[in-house]
Amino acid sequence: MLNKEDLETLRKVGDIVHKTLNRALNIVRPGMKVLDLCEDLENYIRGQGARPAFPVNVSINDVAAHYTAKIDDDLTIPEKSVVKIDVGAHIDGLIVDAAVTVSFDPIYENLLKAALEALKTVKHVLKHGVPVRKIGAAIEKTIKAHGFKPIENLTGHLIKRYELHAGKSIPNVDNGDERHVIEGEIYAIEPFATNGAGVVIDYPVFTIYRLQITSAKQLKKVQKKYGNIINDIIEVNDHLPFTPRWLKDKYTNILELINKLVDENILYAYPMLVEEKHGYVSQFEDTFIVKSDGCEELAHTLDLFK
Ligand code: MN
Ligand code: MN
Repeated sequence: MLNKEDLETLRKVGDIVHKTLNRALNIVRPGMKVLDLCEDLENYIRGQGARPAFPVNVSINDVAAHYTAKIDDDLTIPEKSVVKIDVGAHIDGLIVDAAVTVSFDPIYENLLKAALEALKTVKHVLKHGVPVRKIGAAIEKTIKAHGFKPIENLTGHLIKRYELHAGKSIPNVDNGDERHVIEGEIYAIEPFATNGAGVVIDYPVFTIYRLQITSAKQLKKVQKKYGNIINDIIEVNDHLPFTPRWLKDKYTNILELINKLVDENILYAYPMLVEEKHGYVSQFEDTFIVKSDGCEELAHTLDLFK
């Protein structure tokens, strides 16, 4: 359970994420460089006394998740696109994770609405003792009622201190998981809707990484072998996900170093996730604290669309 101080910190982080998403909605537009968008939002988080919990994800059209700007990325937001902006922040490892979707063509209004309404449903269903599958079922039903498919292999996730994915997952479909959500647990829940197959597949495009070191002993060994780069990765975001952009001023050969560490299984590289049939994808996400009689929203994502 959270103590009072941690709860206050978490609410503060939630407020920072809310303001960051609001800023994202205000500045994103076709023609804008994805690099400028990511850096603006990441700096905005830092300017408020938090750190990004992961690099800002900007996932366009059939890309569902796990893309952040590369070093010197010249990708721009396309005309008529559907853009997911996924933002996380933390203070002392207390994480809030939330996302919004914008579209630059009104034909995607319903696709966005499907995921937004599903998140609204979650807010009403989520409370102590509810089986995980029931939350998935509520998301699935809402998205299908709008004529779209939920993405069945993307899930929400339990969050713990310094742990973005702490075990239990919240599906976007009824997956039969009878385990309950428990008072005091913190979940990021993220309905994804698509006009495609409802499945994402891995693409070999890597922009986000995290250390996968499981023991102090292993850390010592790796630090000895690879020296400063390991310490710099830890310094840039503890053991949470990071992007090479954050280290480019320190290392001219950062991509080379990172690839080597991936080859040695010291770093995990997140593949970009793309809709299998190249359907367009919408996503809305908030982080919730489970309460005995309901839940508390931390980023208040839904309030941005009232
Ligand atoms: Mn997220
Ligand atoms: Mn998430």
